[in-house]
Amino acid sequence: MIITLKKDAPKGEVEKLIGGIEAKGLSTNLIEGASYNVFGVVGDTTILDEKVIAANPVVDNVVRVAAPYKKANRVFHPADSVIHVGGIPVGGQEDVVVIGGPCSVETEEGLLEIAEGVRDAGGHMLRGGAYKPRTSPYAFQGQGSVGIQWMAEARQRYGLPIVSELMSVEKLEEFDQNVDLIQVGARNMQNFDLLKALGSIRKPVLLKRGLANTIEEWLMAAEYIMAGGNDNVILCERGIRTFEKYTRNTLDLSVVPIVKQKSHLPIIIDPSHATGDWRLVESMSLAAIAAGADGLIVEVHNNPECAWSDGSQSLKPDRFKTMIKKGRVIANVVGRGM
Ligand code: PEP
Ligand code: MN
Repeated sequence: MIITLKKDAPKGEVEKLIGGIEAKGLSTNLIEGASYNVFGVVGDTTILDEKVIAANPVVDNVVRVAAPYKKANRVFHPADSVIHVGGIPVGGQEDVVVIGGPCSVETEEGLLEIAEGVRDAGGHMLRGGAYKPRTSPYAFQGQGSVGIQWMAEARQRYGLPIVSELMSVEKLEEFDQNVDLIQVGARNMQNFDLLKALGSIRKPVLLKRGLANTIEEWLMAAEYIMAGGNDNVILCERGIRTFEKYTRNTLDLSVVPIVKQKSHLPIIIDPSHATGDWRLVESMSLAAIAAGADGLIVEVHNNPECAWSDGSQSLKPDRFKTMIKKGRVIANVVGRGM
């Protein structure tokens, strides 16, 4: 961290500021210039709040050199992390993983049919929301606990690890016991109590990017989980809010190479919520694989016209199969299997 001092900063006040920083176990180097005095802070500066330092009347400017996240930072963990989900490796140079399934778990029979379609198409894991974060309180809120049981039944029958969204700390134990990959939805990316609770278990977490969050905020959310001791975090880009109306959200594919630069964590793409339109899902999936994504999470439904949520962005199993077939070709081009 580099702190530039005001020109006329009283010496006593500057010493107080430096003393306070050094008392936290950090060291400082003062460089006296002709016009400005600048000092560098060396050590674990993640414990400092640059806004508090900038508020000091003797301070002109504060620049953070190191990112505020440590455990998620590639600088301190140069090798790619590979996260194992129900025995399937995600990340590094491992095969690109494909997660498919309905937005919501609706009925037991319906879910089992979709799961069979996902498996037959070559999907590796099954998704399905049992607790749903809906914009309207009058919309279908999910089947709850029984939905998780149906997911577990589908796993048993078709051998697919299961992915489902956890909305509240109350259900942590239920998810830790039954779900292979616990999803944190976009709306809960900064639910810090939920993130802390997930840090206390060891189950892999799929952390979606918030609707309007920066990459740094997203990596700080991952840091919350990792700070608690759970290093099993997979990031998921699902589109962000912009002014554009032709798509539900704007898929920010540049996050793939950026996250790979900044972090060692795997990253997957959700082209369904990113676009809101099944017609766009295949091309965005292929683009995501080409960009270096470690996987995809795609909404699949046997009868999208009658889906209880997100039918407009759900692929039928045969289209999902075609997408995977084409995806394998792209994966091979970028040196991966799928
Ligand atoms: C979902 O995956 O069904 C979902 C609600 O996604 P998001 O949190 O990205 O909106
Ligand atoms: Mn959905």
